[in-house]
Amino acid sequence: MGISGGKDSTALAIYMKLNYPEIDMEYYFSDTGKELDEVYALIHELESFLGKTIHKLHASNSHKDPFDHYLDLYNGYLPSSMARWCTKKLKLEPFERWLGNDLSISYVAIRGDEDREGYVSTKSNIQTIFPFRKHMWSMEILHKVLHNSTLGKLEDLYFKVGEKDKKDRYAEVIRQKQSPKYLFSQKLKDLLDLGIATFNKVVFEFLKGTDYPIAQLNNYSLLNNEDSVDLKGVFKLFEDNGINLPGYYEEVEFEVDGEKGTFHRSRSGCYFCFYQRKIEWIWLYERHPKLFQLAKEYEKDGYTWMDNESLDDIIKPKRMNQIKRDHIQKIKNKLTQPKSNKLIDILDDGDEMCANCFI
Ligand code: SF4
Repeated sequence: MGISGGKDSTALAIYMKLNYPEIDMEYYFSDTGKELDEVYALIHELESFLGKTIHKLHASNSHKDPFDHYLDLYNGYLPSSMARWCTKKLKLEPFERWLGNDLSISYVAIRGDEDREGYVSTKSNIQTIFPFRKHMWSMEILHKVLHNSTLGKLEDLYFKVGEKDKKDRYAEVIRQKQSPKYLFSQKLKDLLDLGIATFNKVVFEFLKGTDYPIAQLNNYSLLNNEDSVDLKGVFKLFEDNGINLPGYYEEVEFEVDGEKGTFHRSRSGCYFCFYQRKIEWIWLYERHPKLFQLAKEYEKDGYTWMDNESLDDIIKPKRMNQIKRDHIQKIKNKLTQPKSNKLIDILDDGDEMCANCFI
């Protein structure tokens, strides 16, 4: 299980230890050398809770931080959402090197209330499972299982492992082919509604005889898992188990034009990550001025972290005040239609993110 230093992967580590202690879990953290101190503090706290060391993976043996080492190799070309070499070089490749050819199940903390697919390795010896989701399987597997060409096999398996009194309903759903009128997502939902544990057992049986790592197991504890853990569930895992949320989530007050607002950083990852919002850059400037200065030093030879302005630009008083005012307005707008009454939920609004760095 990869620990990013964010809340969701931490919550999943807590959840798995509490619910599936029999699984011989190994934990890793891909260290870019550029994380906030709060991330390292959380990793340390989590190690105490788990009673295990979290392996620290470094992308290079250079005397420089892994990020700086690769930045040199990329001739100072800063990563961006369009050219995200950092995730590949600093996170994915070290992880896949570490595992080598060992058959592995990789646990990823995409939450039940999120509509995105997490990292799924292209290496066949690594299989990804999403325990927080209603369906824990990767999309690739789900598409194979629900494919129109394998309906007969699916029905046989449902009759074998399912509940006898639901046979007619199983057949009705399974025999209806996917089409523009009956989408994959609807079929998946209909089957899950007929029983998540049954669905899991069917998928497990379906995969037998394939090369998927899970197919090599005789049994698998998570087959009976019917949980779906959402954002509230994540916070509850922290609260119930006395683990502190990463320090950067703490709301900090600011004032602009006599109006008060609050801000925090919403994600783990490198302090200079190009995915952060403008208000988070301001947060970095005010909360970690030395790190902001270091981030600024990377902006040279025409390269900047953001497309349309440099870090020097955004800390000009007029611009900074505008960013703060925009942030206050954004919160006001969202408060009129909140998902929950916690500010942190309101801000966790599914902005474009990296499924490796911010989970
Ligand atoms: S946190 Fe951002 S900058 Fe760091 S590796 Fe991930 S995507 Fe790249």
